[in-house]
Amino acid sequence: MNQSLQSRIPVAVLGATGMVGQRFIELLQGHPWFELVALAASERHDGRPYGEVTSWRLSGSEMPADVARMPVVACRPGALPGIKIAFSALPGEIAGDIELAFAEAGVAVFSNAKNYRMASDVPLLIPEVNADHVLAVVEQRKRRNWSGCIVTNANCSATPLVMALKPLQQAFGLRKVLITTMQAISGAGYPGLPSYDILDNAIPYIGGEEEKLESETRKMLGSWQEGQGFTDAPAIVSAHCNRVATREGHLECVSVELERETTPEEIIAAWESFVPEPQQLKLPTAPAQALVYRREIDRPQTLRDRDAGNGMTVSVGRLRRCPILGYKFVVLGHNTIRGAAGGSILNAELFVNKGLL
Ligand code: NAP
Repeated sequence: MNQSLQSRIPVAVLGATGMVGQRFIELLQGHPWFELVALAASERHDGRPYGEVTSWRLSGSEMPADVARMPVVACRPGALPGIKIAFSALPGEIAGDIELAFAEAGVAVFSNAKNYRMASDVPLLIPEVNADHVLAVVEQRKRRNWSGCIVTNANCSATPLVMALKPLQQAFGLRKVLITTMQAISGAGYPGLPSYDILDNAIPYIGGEEEKLESETRKMLGSWQEGQGFTDAPAIVSAHCNRVATREGHLECVSVELERETTPEEIIAAWESFVPEPQQLKLPTAPAQALVYRREIDRPQTLRDRDAGNGMTVSVGRLRRCPILGYKFVVLGHNTIRGAAGGSILNAELFVNKGLL
């Protein structure tokens, strides 16, 4: 479909003042299908202009002048009339009730929060990995009697991991996955960790992250069937999650046990020939390459490679034999773009393309 030939779809950002909210605003500028018409955050902003209540924290862009003039209203459906899509960048502590209220009011909610990711009728979607899961919203709407819906995207460390695993699962089968992450501080939102705690430091604990990485990976690599719902992939997944002193980009060391014996050349070929649905459909936010394999001995690196494909391409490298599980490699994804706002916008594009709005 060519949405740009028709009028653009009015959308809002919930949690517009935060790290992910600002990314949404940046990525929605000039979007061919979606028009940003409303911004919402906590009640304390009381309708004041975005530029007055927010400091722009993204490097490489400025707060758009028209956005600076927009009022920041409360996250209530009545305060945002006429919107069709709400991109939610709300913290998990409050996202549950607010997202529910918007879905009940007929709005399609694309959420970054953890609350509904594992629900039995909610897609946990990466269009390159499990595009067919988006059809779960049809049953969700029937079951909950909603005209709106909730679609989620994954934890920001699960997204690049699953994108790298999908071609391996398809080509060789996947038995076991062991991951150690080095996650950027922006993953904790703003202001996030006190500088005294994170500068010159690495912290081997991120609350709830390892459990999310393990369960979300199995759901996304699993199947969805009409009438039967979701079935997890049978792979065994074990994660160590660490916070390190980088600003953006989650780097992950991964070991895998595959079902079928294979060669490094075949694995790299599986990554390099991966052209999934969003790239075939040429969705506006889909990067030309979903995955890129770096052949240099010391890549991908957080600083150098996180912005590949405008932050939407996942970089993989350092494939070598693992004496314990078979193969090991490194994967990198931009946490606030591919792992959050950009991922959500791509989800909404797939949803619109499938005629689900
Ligand atoms: P953040 O920087 O802390 O931003 C939180 C946003 O929520 C702010 O706009 C804040 O607005 C708003 N908010 C807080 N309390 C509220 C309330 N009671 N009512 C309405 N709005 C309220 O967090 P973030 O890093 O952007 O993360 C947002 C969500 O995305 C979280 O669920 C997080 O887990 C998820 N996520 C984050 C990343 C990442 O890399 N950062 C990646 C994937 C997923 P005020 O200005 O009013 O306080």
